[in-house]
Amino acid sequence: MSDTWIVDLRHYLNEYGAIAISSGPGLRLAEYFTAITQETTGDPYGEQLYPKVPCRRRPNRKPCVGEIASYIDPDDQQIVWICPVCGDNGTISGWQGTLWDLTQADTTAH
Ligand SMILES: [Zn+2]
Repeated sequence: MSDTWIVDLRHYLNEYGAIAISSGPGLRLAEYFTAITQETTGDPYGEQLYPKVPCRRRPNRKPCVGEIASYIDPDDQQIVWICPVCGDNGTISGWQGTLWDLTQADTTAH
């Protein structure tokens, strides 16, 4: 069984929009979610402009070899992501306007 991470990216950020956590597992988690946000919003057509995010899970104490697959849900604009190998998955909301929101960089869509 795998967990579903329901994340609001703003909860990880301070008043300046940077990651509010300075160290530890919380920081690694925040960096994981910001990396997924960057890869998803900066690369909507799968052009691999940004590196795929490696799965962070370690099932049976071995690092999962999966790379996170993700897309922006057109209905509610949440980022939906899943590891195709171990099934770890979740959604990210509140990413719009953060430092990792690269949707505005795509001039062809606006
Ligand atoms: Zn995985």
